[in-house]
Amino acid sequence: ADAMKTPLDRGRYPILERKVGADGAHRLVYLDSAATALVSATVTDAHAAFLHTSCANIHRGAHLLAEEATDAYECARERLASFFGASSPEAVVLTHGATESLNLAALGWGRRHLRAGDIVAVAADNHHSNIVPWQMLAEERGVEVAWIPVGADGLLDLSTWYRIAERSPKAVALCHRSNVLGFAQPALATILNEARSCGALIVLDGAQAAAHIPVDLSDTPFDFYGCSAHKMGGLAGVGALVCSERAIGELSPLVGGGGMAARVDDDGYAPLAGPAGFEAGTPPVAAAAVWPVAIDLLEAAGLDTLAAHVSVLAEAARHRLASIPGVRVIGDEPGRAFESLVSFTVDGVHPHDVSQHLSNAGVMVRAGHHCAKPLHRALGLKASLRASFGGYSADDDVDALVAAVEERCEKRRTC
Ligand code: PMP
Repeated sequence: ADAMKTPLDRGRYPILERKVGADGAHRLVYLDSAATALVSATVTDAHAAFLHTSCANIHRGAHLLAEEATDAYECARERLASFFGASSPEAVVLTHGATESLNLAALGWGRRHLRAGDIVAVAADNHHSNIVPWQMLAEERGVEVAWIPVGADGLLDLSTWYRIAERSPKAVALCHRSNVLGFAQPALATILNEARSCGALIVLDGAQAAAHIPVDLSDTPFDFYGCSAHKMGGLAGVGALVCSERAIGELSPLVGGGGMAARVDDDGYAPLAGPAGFEAGTPPVAAAAVWPVAIDLLEAAGLDTLAAHVSVLAEAARHRLASIPGVRVIGDEPGRAFESLVSFTVDGVHPHDVSQHLSNAGVMVRAGHHCAKPLHRALGLKASLRASFGGYSADDDVDALVAAVEERCEKRRTC
C-alpha cells in the first residue's frame, strides 16, 4: 500500500504506520481528513525546530528570540496572503481557527453595522460556525436571519435567494465547500455575484475548500474568508480571516487585551490599525510559524493535482458505496462531480454503529451531524457517515472502506 504514488508522500505520515482494530491487525485507514488533516513529519520537524530555537512570544524589539518569533509569525501572514490572493498581508487576521474567524467576521462586523430588522441571508449548507454567530446577532439585536434553503437534493434554492436579494440583505453567509456534501454548489457563483451587486457583505467559509481546491480570492467576490491550518496539513490552534480592503476597515475587535491596543488610558482604548488590532493575547506562534511549511507541501504537490487526486478517490468511493444494497450516498445525482468527500447512510443501521464497525476494521470515518444540523434536516436525516480524503489517501483506502461497509451490511442482513 505504501508503495502507491500519492501527491503527498505517505512515507512522511508516520501515523499511517499504526496498526489498529480489536486484534491490532489492521493498518490505519484514515478517512477523516475533512475533520482534521494528517500532519507530515516535515511540519512536525519544523515545529520542533522552531520551539527548539526561536520559542518566544512575539514582541518586536524586545530581544533576538522575540524578533525571530515575530518574523516567523509575520512570514505566515505574508504566505497566507499570497496563497489566497489577498490584497495584502495587512488584510489577513490570524486567529485560532475558522470558528473564531467566522465569529470575528459576523460579530465584529455585525455589531457595528447591523440594526434590528436588517436581513442576513444564511445558506443552509453552512457549518454551524457560519450560522450560530448570525443567530447570536438575531438574539442580540433583532437581525433577521433569512435562510437560503437546501432542497432534498442538496442544492441551494436559487429562487428563494432571489426573493431575499430583493429585500436588500446586509450580509450573506455562504460556504465555499460543504463539510457534508461532496459536490460544489452550482448556484454559489451566481449568489456571490448577486450578493456583490446588491452591496451585501459576503462572509465565505473556506475551511473545507482551502485544503483541496485552488482558491484565488482576487477573483472571488468576498469580504471575509475563514479557514483553519489543521485542515490544510498544519497544526490545530491557528486559523485566518482573510478580509477585503473594505471589510477590514469596517471590522471591530471582538477580544480586547494585550497586543491589540494603540492607546489605553483612563478614558478608554484605541485598537491598533491593521490585523494586529484583532489579535489580542498571545497568539499560537509556533503553529502559525509552521503553517507556511504545510502550504509549501500543498503547493509542491500542486493544488490542481491534489484536487484531481482526492476527486478520483471520492468518485470511486461514491460509485462503489452506492452499489452496495442499502447504502445511500448523499447528493448522488447524475452530472455531479464529487470533490474530496462522500457522505452516506446505511438503511436500518445508525451511523454511529457503522462507524464503530469501520473503526474496528481500522477505517476511520466521521459519523454524526458534522455540525451541520440544518443541512441534515433539509436532507431528511439526523446523521450521516462521511469518508473524506487527503493528498496522502490511496486507492486501497477506498477498498478498505468499501469492504468494511459491505461487511456491516452483510451483518445487518443476517441478524
Ligand atoms: N467550517 C467548515 C465547513 C468546517 O468543516 C469546519 C470544521 N469542521 C469549520 C468551519 C470549523 O473549523 P474549526 O473547527 O477548525 O474552527
